[in-house]
This record gives sequence, C-alpha cells and structure tokens, in this order.
Amino acid sequence: MVDLMIKNGLVLTMNKERLIIKDGCVAVEEGKIVDLGKTKEIEGKYKADEVINASEKIVAPGLINTHTHLSMTLFRGLIDDKKPKDWLPTVWKIESNLTREEVYCGALLGALELIKSGTTTFSDHYFFMEEVAKAVRESGLRACLAQALLELMGPDLGQNKLSYTVDFAKKFRGAAGGRVETFLGPHALYSVTEETLKKIREVADKENFRIHLHMAESKWEIEMVKEKYGKTTVEKLNEMGFLKPDVVGAHSIFVSENEIKILAEKRVNVAYCPTTPIKAGVGVAPIPEMLQEGVNVSLGTDGAGSNNTLDLFRELRMAAVIHKLRKLNPETLPAFQVLEMATVNGAKTLGMEKGIGSLEKGKKADVIIVDFKKPHVTPFHNIPSTLVYSTVGGDVDTVIVDGKVVMRERKVLTLKEEEIIDKANACFKELVEKAGMETKLM
Ligand SMILES: [Zn+2]
Repeated sequence: MVDLMIKNGLVLTMNKERLIIKDGCVAVEEGKIVDLGKTKEIEGKYKADEVINASEKIVAPGLINTHTHLSMTLFRGLIDDKKPKDWLPTVWKIESNLTREEVYCGALLGALELIKSGTTTFSDHYFFMEEVAKAVRESGLRACLAQALLELMGPDLGQNKLSYTVDFAKKFRGAAGGRVETFLGPHALYSVTEETLKKIREVADKENFRIHLHMAESKWEIEMVKEKYGKTTVEKLNEMGFLKPDVVGAHSIFVSENEIKILAEKRVNVAYCPTTPIKAGVGVAPIPEMLQEGVNVSLGTDGAGSNNTLDLFRELRMAAVIHKLRKLNPETLPAFQVLEMATVNGAKTLGMEKGIGSLEKGKKADVIIVDFKKPHVTPFHNIPSTLVYSTVGGDVDTVIVDGKVVMRERKVLTLKEEEIIDKANACFKELVEKAGMETKLM
C-alpha cells in the first residue's frame, strides 16, 4: 500500500545518470519516493490511496529557488525602470513602515505564486521571518529561511541585532514538520560590520547553520567595500575566513577570474538570479566561467519587487539565453545545464542534496507535473528544450511537496487563492499610502 502513485508520465529523474523514463511511474509513501520505474513494472506492485494519471505530462523534481524575498511580492511593479541607487533607498523607505501582518500577507501571495509556477523549495531572506515560516507551514512548501541582519544601512524595524537572526534560526529550525530549515542571514559585507560577520561565522561553525548573503551584486558595492577595506567583496570575505561550503552568495556578479578561483576553492555556492540585474542594467554574473572552475551555481528569482515575477521557468530561459549573447556563442550554457541549476545544484546550495533535487528512491517526494499538450510547447520531443525555452509556470498542472498534493490540476489546495489576492491588493494600497507614494492606476 502506498499513499500516492503518479503513473504514465514522462519522468525526468535528474538522478546521477540523468535518466528519463518514458511511460514512467513514481510511488510515494510517507512523504518519500519508495519506488520508480516503468508504469507497467511498478503499477502492479502497490495499491495506492491516490492515483494521478500523468499521461502527456512531464513528471519532474520540484524546482528550487535559492534566493528570494517572498514578502516583497507586495512591491511588484512599484519601482520599475530605476537605477539601483534610486531603487534601494525607495525600498528601504517603504520597508521602514513594514508591519508583521504585511510580511505575512506578502509571503502568502508569494507562496501562491511559487506553487502555481512549480517551485517546491525556496530560500528566503527578509524581516519578521516568523511570519514567513507561518506562510510556509500553511502553504505546504519547503523553505530555508534567514532572518536578515542589516546594521549599517537599511530600514530599522527593531530587528537589526545578531541575536534576532540567531534566535530565529535556532527556534524555527525543523519547523512545519521539518519543511523549514533555517540559515543565518547577514544582508551583505557592506551593510554589516566585520566584527558581526566574524561572529556569524563562529555561530555557523558551532551550530552548523548555513549562511545566506548578498555578494558582489553592484559596482556601487565593490567601490564602497574597496574604499573601506582596500579589497573587493570576495577578497575581503576570503581574508576574514568567512568563505566556506556553507555559504550561499546571491548574485556574485562582480567577481574577477581570481575571485572565481577563490569561490571554487572554498566551495562557496552561488545563487544566480539573472533577471534582476539585467532589468536594473547592472550586469551579468560570469556563470559559464564559474561552472568551468567547478563552482556550484543554482538559480533564484530574487524578490518580485525587482524581478516582478517568481516564476522560475522564466528565469531558466533568461539564465540560458543571456550568456549566449554575452559570449556571442549559442553553445554557451546549454538547456540541460540550466535545468541542473534549478534542481540538483539548488539542492546542493541549500545543503539538501540527500533529500531533494532529483526523483530517486528514498528521496523526499517533491514533484511537479507539467502539461505538454499545449500549442506553445508543441511539437514535444526534447524535455530540456521544452522546460527551459518554452514552458511557463502556468503549464504546471500538479505540485507535490513532501508527498502531499498542494496543487491539483491548477487548483491550490492549501491556500485560499482569491482571498489572498484581494488581501494583497488591499495591503499594497496601504503600504503605498504609508510611504507617501503614488501608483499609476490607483
Ligand atoms: Zn536579494
């Protein structure tokens, strides 16, 4: 007897051999994959409580978004087409009035969008993270949550103390039935003191927490860090002994050849978020160069306040195409390599490669089922090409996290979609009014 059986699907395992099973079947029990293979071989072995027919659908590992700010989904479309030096202070101005209710409201909206576009695990960095943890618990998603710490700039919400970040990490580790993992979240080298960063490194070593921070994301940052420390971001972090395999460095755009070597040597994980810096006219991280050196690169959307979407499928496409232009070579970063970033590499970034990232016996049942009987993905013959270049989040039909169906045939079962959207619109209006800003359509 198993809880759930997904049969007749085209199963993209992302296992070591990157096996694709035609007419495949995945059997799930107590949140884990207990068997997978050809439907005709698996089907007869078990009785299932629930059977999902995935005929003419791709069955794939749930996507992993390794850098976002879920509650900032409330800021979508508010500050577009602005330079980072204008964008960031405006965001901080809005955030200085932020309430915990708004953080919760934004997190629910973001959770809804993640589910509806096929992300099953996300790594988040923000304030009032207890509220995000609550949204994770209710939505059924899996998450790595970090309470952000900013000391030298940014909004003051009374949470900018190291103890706040560490206490959150300790208290919420393993919450939501084990679906919440917690990281330490210093905002960046330029916004936190050297002394505090050293303390964070000590806590991470002692308590076995991973560290999620922004790294080398703008020229402005590099200049500021150089002026203060006489070194670039990666050089300085390295000199401090901060860089280890437990570090997740979001963006990492402004890194030299030598710094890429440092990232590889220290086995730092890079959360590559292509759209935000492209949209902001900032730059493109040297991803093919990092992969060449053996750096683990995963994918992220960043917040919808800058990217305007949490749909990781759009990010897959952007991640793949931009380097072909940058290198003037279409052979750069093929589709399959990008697919790895959103699955197996993402799991590695989060230190969860034993549990998620691929569909294998014994792994957690985080599965998405993607419809390929649609005009924009026809003719269907090449899974990586379809998923990276043609699919959009709206093609995801069914989402399973930890063996539980959280969306079936586009209907989210864990959250009240209409209610959340209405509430988010009301919340947005209030936020904008509090900040004394105007929007075009209101
Ligand atoms: Zn960010």
